[in-house]
Amino acid sequence: MPVRAYKGQPKSPKQRWVFFCLLISVSMLFGLGKGPAKDEPIAKMTEENPAEPVSVEADLILPLTPPPESKSTRTVGYIANKENLTEALMSENISRADVLELIDVLHRDIKRASFNPNIVRRGDRYELVIDSRSTIQHLKYTRQGDHETQFIVERINGQLKARQENLPLKQEAIIVSGHIKDNIWNALRETGESPALLCDKLEYVFEYYIDFYNDCRTGDQFTFAVEKLYNKSGAFVRYGNILTAQYRGTKESFQAFLYVDPKGNKNYHDSKGRSLQALFLRKPLNFTRISSPFTSRRYHPILKKYTRHHGVDYAAPYGTKVWAIANGKVAFVGRKGPLGNYIEIEHSNGYKTGYGHLRGFARGLKKGQRVNQKQTIGYVGSTGRSTGPHLHFNFYATVNGNYKLINPTRKINRPAGQPIPEKYMAYFQQQRDQYSALLDRKNGSIVTTSLPLRVVAE
Ligand SMILES: [Zn+2]
Repeated sequence: MPVRAYKGQPKSPKQRWVFFCLLISVSMLFGLGKGPAKDEPIAKMTEENPAEPVSVEADLILPLTPPPESKSTRTVGYIANKENLTEALMSENISRADVLELIDVLHRDIKRASFNPNIVRRGDRYELVIDSRSTIQHLKYTRQGDHETQFIVERINGQLKARQENLPLKQEAIIVSGHIKDNIWNALRETGESPALLCDKLEYVFEYYIDFYNDCRTGDQFTFAVEKLYNKSGAFVRYGNILTAQYRGTKESFQAFLYVDPKGNKNYHDSKGRSLQALFLRKPLNFTRISSPFTSRRYHPILKKYTRHHGVDYAAPYGTKVWAIANGKVAFVGRKGPLGNYIEIEHSNGYKTGYGHLRGFARGLKKGQRVNQKQTIGYVGSTGRSTGPHLHFNFYATVNGNYKLINPTRKINRPAGQPIPEKYMAYFQQQRDQYSALLDRKNGSIVTTSLPLRVVAE
């Protein structure tokens, strides 16, 4: 270590000169000097200026570091456009066999879903340590924008081994609170947090009860506590779970508390421990706006006259996924006149739903097939009598033994999830009380780790 070489450094010019000569002989002894002739300029320089030999000393101490045979090289590289990891590593000073071995090890030790060396992205970073024989000793691979994971390949006892490493994130929870003026997106933006990252999370909590584009009214209030995750340098990485949320609407109010069961399943429950899961999702897709509501009188843009519209039109971009709003059985799939590509699903308790104007159906979907709630069944299109991409959604209930189209925005939902088991109830209530207290706090309040951030029943 160079530090050690400096430790006994002589102080007076004379002592320095002796030390210098000693170093020269040591370096020559090890065969690391370049011979007396080549050393000449250095010697000359010191002779001319013996009072200031500092830089010379620094140079001469270098030979005392480990000999180059054991030296390893660290290289940092980035994936170029349209390049895979094999190609990138081939451009470094490594043998082809070595690169192929490393890629094999990555395929062997890491799940393809987590990392596939054949599918990498421009800007991904790799850090490579190779020894003097150009053999790979270590590789650290970090995907661009991924602050949570990295992939390591290491040579241990001559064998390469790969592993995924999770980088530690700092976690806190923040209170987000506001009220609706025009819509939820703008209301979230006013809280100072990101609507693009939070809108879906909030919708998910209340997906059985609130259609945030149809049910929200001016003056409605919301408050929720959401986990916020940072990397070790303090940069925001992402939001985590919404821990608790409250929506106070003009018509109805809802509260949700996250409960993680012993198996790790996460679900939202109300204050009494009842599951918020219900028979029907509040909507069959993520849509942009309601382009035509359920009404008995609307002006039809193609027919140019007033007709009934006993369904709901959800405007959404072409290709938006359309979900079954409840478990059920496919009763129809195919062309159906003005409805274009159409799917009908029969549910329990005499309900039926229909999905029209689809661009296409989920692969392999056929009549008689069972589908699950929120399973993708088709994609938004504009087939049939339609002026632009949207979903026409029909909701039927059985009335006097016959299917009748009803307004799906009416309150028809019923609970379908498991309540908190009796033996975990006290634990849930204790956590719920702590979470409830959060709902009174101001927008932007930070909740640190003094509070358990998850309701985990043991
Ligand atoms: Zn329609």
